[in-house]
Amino acid sequence: MQKVKIELGVNSYDIYVGSGLLPLAGLRLKELGFIGRAVIITDTNVKKHYAGIMEDGLTSAGYDVEILEIPPGEQNKTLKTAARLYDELSRINTERITPVLALGGGVTGDLAGFVAATYMRGVPYIQAPTTLLAMTDSSIGGKTAVDLGRLKNIIGAFYQPKLVVADINTLKTLPAAELANGMAEVIKHAAIMDKEFFVYLESNMDKVLALDADVMEYVIARNVRIKAGVVSKDEKETGLREILNYGHTVGHAVEVVSNFKLKHGQAVAIGMAAEAKISRRLGMLSAKDADRLGKLIIRAGLPARIPDFDVKKIMQAMTHDKKVRHGRLNFALLKSLGEAFITNDVDAAFVEEVISGGE
Ligand code: ADP
Ligand code: ZN
Repeated sequence: MQKVKIELGVNSYDIYVGSGLLPLAGLRLKELGFIGRAVIITDTNVKKHYAGIMEDGLTSAGYDVEILEIPPGEQNKTLKTAARLYDELSRINTERITPVLALGGGVTGDLAGFVAATYMRGVPYIQAPTTLLAMTDSSIGGKTAVDLGRLKNIIGAFYQPKLVVADINTLKTLPAAELANGMAEVIKHAAIMDKEFFVYLESNMDKVLALDADVMEYVIARNVRIKAGVVSKDEKETGLREILNYGHTVGHAVEVVSNFKLKHGQAVAIGMAAEAKISRRLGMLSAKDADRLGKLIIRAGLPARIPDFDVKKIMQAMTHDKKVRHGRLNFALLKSLGEAFITNDVDAAFVEEVISGGE
């Protein structure tokens, strides 16, 4: 097991990564001083596999457990589902000190986190991520939100959990496509911050995909440290944290144009490959490094080419994105593998030419 401390002053918390941690979540809660009741929010799929395990651990640690179920899928990450959860929390007389535990992927984490942030102006929030994406990305950084129609994460709050417990055993039931989805952000973190980790991924991708326990624990913990380092330095996303947007300027646009048929990780993979090309065309990144990145993306089971979408629509989506300031396109780009920089001055016509297939 590995423990990573997220340094955020009074909002600091620990992320535990390892095998078999879910049944021990109750002990961790006790260490933090919580007593009485605990509420688990989980989706139907995850409940089937893991709610019982978590509940048993909490019960043996002396908690009185309530389980609230939500339907799976991003389409349910809405104010309507949140409102239902508020009703249920009030029905079971949740108190201000009652911890709310999000057991599930990023959707459950975002939604339960938003509910925890807003119910009674904030109740304690614990995350037990069960997807690779949630373990390596959404559970770190304190972003919680719901969607408003097509507008993703438009209503939300920064709200830090008290604890994150990532039990890698839960990944065994995760569909392969969801595993690949999470790998996109892992590759991103290596590409922007950590050359050595990038090389490690090149050597160990087969073990990652086979869910080798030691390799997974190492990959997730290292990845948590990379993201945590960035987030601790820039909690509210004002400067440095923008390098985490690598792959996301083009990626988000492609995701929108696909009508969200592409998963986030697939869109980010496409975005990373496209933005590596932009970096290369600007004379920053070597052709060799761009090629290595493309190969790693493909080995993880992710796409590295923009699908046959209307480039004008992609450009339109990009310029409507919140990453645009003063009409210039804002990008996180690569200097080399392991080193990124932020620029808010990339010419839109140039980007259009590059993503249209121009060499
Ligand atoms: P993400 O973390 O990618 O944002 P979601 O919360 O939407 O994802 O989870 C993706 C899908 O995988 C959902 O249908 C969810 O119910 C399911 N899921 C999450 N964790 C697991 C798991 N450990 N085993 C099986 N299915 C899971
Ligand atoms: Zn992302």
